[in-house]
Amino acid sequence: MKKIWMAAALLAAFSIGAEATENATADVAVIGAGGAGLSAAVQAHDLGAKVIVLEKMPMVGGNTIRAAGGLNAAGTPYQAAKGGQAALDSAEIMYYDTMKGGHWLGNPELVRTLAERSASSVEWLVTLGADLRDVGLMAGATLPRTHRPTGGALVGPEVIRTLYTASKTRNLDIRTNSTVQEIIMKGGRVAGVKVKDKEGTYTITAKAVVDAAGGFGANNAMVSKYVPKLKGFATTNQPGAQGEGLTMAEEAGAKLIQMDQIQTHPTVVPEFGEMITEAVRGNGAILINKDGKRFFNELDTRDAVSAAILKQKDGVAYLFFDSDMQKSLKATNSYIRQRYCLTGATLDEIAGLMKVDPAVLKATMEDWKKAKSSGNDPFGRTDMPRNLDVGPFYAIAVTPAVHHTMGGIQIDKKTRVYDKSGRVIPGLFAAGEVTGGIHGANRLGGNAQADIVTFGRIAGEEAFVYSKSAAN
Ligand SMILES: Cc1cc2nc3c(=O)[nH]c(=O)nc-3n(C[C@H](O)[C@H](O)[C@H](O)COP(=O)(O)OP(=O)(O)OC[C@H]3O[C@@H](n4cnc5c(N)ncnc54)[C@H](O)[C@@H]3O)c2cc1C
Repeated sequence: MKKIWMAAALLAAFSIGAEATENATADVAVIGAGGAGLSAAVQAHDLGAKVIVLEKMPMVGGNTIRAAGGLNAAGTPYQAAKGGQAALDSAEIMYYDTMKGGHWLGNPELVRTLAERSASSVEWLVTLGADLRDVGLMAGATLPRTHRPTGGALVGPEVIRTLYTASKTRNLDIRTNSTVQEIIMKGGRVAGVKVKDKEGTYTITAKAVVDAAGGFGANNAMVSKYVPKLKGFATTNQPGAQGEGLTMAEEAGAKLIQMDQIQTHPTVVPEFGEMITEAVRGNGAILINKDGKRFFNELDTRDAVSAAILKQKDGVAYLFFDSDMQKSLKATNSYIRQRYCLTGATLDEIAGLMKVDPAVLKATMEDWKKAKSSGNDPFGRTDMPRNLDVGPFYAIAVTPAVHHTMGGIQIDKKTRVYDKSGRVIPGLFAAGEVTGGIHGANRLGGNAQADIVTFGRIAGEEAFVYSKSAAN
């Protein structure tokens, strides 16, 4: 949690606190200053639109700033530079992985757009100043395609830093502490938004509105309405992820789809609520239960790994790694300083801290090494990059928590929003976690960051074109 709030404090210093209550006019109004909203805003501005961004929280960033593991893209120069398996990747393989990972519930047209435009999303961010040179593997991906800053540092703060700096350079009008309460409709078309800030409520008249208000993972009443078994679950989401972007789009006539597709992240620290990024498993960590044994393929999809952990004693497992793995991923530097992380110089010592039989833990680690050297893992894991035999050893108790809401507003590949009769709602565009149909029944790690930048940019382009079209 600490690193998130340090990043938050940093960004709060950047926040622009416009508190105007006067009515205003824009070509494009953007709801939400997370990754999708800021991508849309920068893109629409660069094409020539007057843009106003509304963010209800005191700072920009949304769930995007919390992202740790990376951003998926296929066919980038960074994969080519890494060489080996990474260099073999393609949009076609990413499309297949995403469809399969989502249990074939994703909309093929949207998934194809995501895969085909992912590399250009990375290039766009790099052009704006991002460092996404490091390439790693995350669960559900056939080949390494997760892009993140050098040394495996956190991706979300880098994406938001880049987009926020680009917004500042362009003097974009970003209004924090400004909650959009309603998408205003006139004669079946979008006419603007109603905003509440510290001074009261006012209206922004805009021909086009981009709804990029994120998901509803932090609204447990809404989560459990769609998936009752998730009632009372903790969440990895920022407190602002309440789902108003979906509710107000529905009030404007939008159709919501696949709302019961809600993902739990398997490795969240109970009581602390901190998510341990999947890149930790990607770089070699394993899962060990309270009996000291491995029990599942750590690189299976999130839904499968979550279900497997919940079947273990107390619904908890230890994420286990050694110092060789720790040094390979900067994102772990803060984890190992937290009091939830057990540290033991030897296997005997860490076993004592985990309260497991040292002999069982040692046997587990011998079996792991045998599986790695033979390439034949009894749990079916194919990527086993490390022996995990270099002390000190680390163990973090983890359990699943609500992480991503895959369902949402129905869009097409131009991010146009559809109503319940299958007609486009003129002037309404949506991008990011507020939308549904891309990740199907299970989002792959790294695919949301690709989604928000790719569809955020498309929404910015389309909203600009719509707002300037003579017919409107
Ligand atoms: C802990 C964590 C780690 C993650 N790690 C990864 C990762 O490594 N890779 C990956 O691909 N994905 C990751 N994800 C998922 C990914 O980060 C999110 O799905 C994505 O960033 C959502 O972006 P967004 O722009 O759609 O929404 P957000 O970034 O959530 O932005 C939406 C914004 O809209 C604002 N808003 C909401 N309602 C209103 C309103 N009424 N008026 C004005 N503003 C409003 C919100 O406050 C928020 O700032 C992670 C998510 C979490 C929570």
